[in-house]
Amino acid sequence: MIRVLFADKSSNWPRYEGPLTEAIAATGVAAEIVQPGEADPSSVDYIVYSPQGPVQDFTAYTKAKAVLNLWAGVERVVGNTTLTQPLCRMVDAGLERGMVEYVTGHVLRYHLGIDATLAQQDGVWRHDGGVPPLARNRSVVMLGLGALGKACAEALVELGFTVTGWSRTPKDIAGITCLSGEDGLRAALSRAEILVSILPDTPETTDLLNAETLALLPEGARIINPGRGTLIDDDALLAALDRGQVGHATLDVFRTEPLPPEHPYWAHPNVTVTPHIAAESRAETASEVIAENIRRSEAGEPFLYLVDRSRGY
Ligand code: NAP
Repeated sequence: MIRVLFADKSSNWPRYEGPLTEAIAATGVAAEIVQPGEADPSSVDYIVYSPQGPVQDFTAYTKAKAVLNLWAGVERVVGNTTLTQPLCRMVDAGLERGMVEYVTGHVLRYHLGIDATLAQQDGVWRHDGGVPPLARNRSVVMLGLGALGKACAEALVELGFTVTGWSRTPKDIAGITCLSGEDGLRAALSRAEILVSILPDTPETTDLLNAETLALLPEGARIINPGRGTLIDDDALLAALDRGQVGHATLDVFRTEPLPPEHPYWAHPNVTVTPHIAAESRAETASEVIAENIRRSEAGEPFLYLVDRSRGY
């Protein structure tokens, strides 16, 4: 019998209790699931972890075979010096669908000019012969082509958009122009009518969107950032918004969360703030991923979604 510690915040346990118990049972591995304080840390085999949970020091978990993150992002644990076990991140079908819906929704909102349409209440029939361009004539750029970025890019291709993606390593994805490297970034930004950023927070991606790179965007470009707040130099973005280089930004993630009430993003007429809700792990599907990794480990098979700690994601 193995022991699994559920170390997310306790208010999430009612959502996970049924799905996690069932998913682990379905693998055939006999397990007891405990919560912090219920068992000696040195008796725990697997830690189901969340950055908002109570366990952030792994020193006492001497027997633990892995830390299984419930979140896709690992920036708050990857540098933890008490972590000596393998770290797996969450790649969850429910989370992926949530991100696809958030991104496609906001891309379509920008593409169709929905905000401006909603604002028209003055009785003026503004049909000047123009219609919005078709999606195929709209260039969307995806920074990050991982589990989430690729799924979003493919959904946008399905809708007909012209999609360019950018990642650390070269990729070949049907229907998407894939770029990498510094030259690739410059080429991608210079064609981004709508820019979506789904990169992880690493030392290399910090302030990737800064005064110099934002200046490469076409005049009036739209930005959607559900990746991480650190990807954007906030002062540079505010300056780019004020001079119209960036026409509008939809931001889901911030350097400080919750975003402080006095932060200029809240009141800026060309910024939409969403409170880190683009995508969340869903208990049913995330539990299956956790259970599958426990099964693999117990069977001596390699983990899924193992984090490369030297790369930071
Ligand atoms: P992932 O599968 O690890 O993909 C990361 C992508 O970023 C990969 O394509 C990777 O390139 C690329 N990348 C990393 N460092 C790079 C660099 N220095 N230069 C260029 N490309 C780089 O991660 P994911 O599951 O798609 O998740 C991405 C991020 O989304 C998470 O880390 C998290 O921060 C964020 N997220 C946000 C929410 C929300 O609710 N807002 C929810 C979930 C996740 P390679 O493919 O070449 O390695």
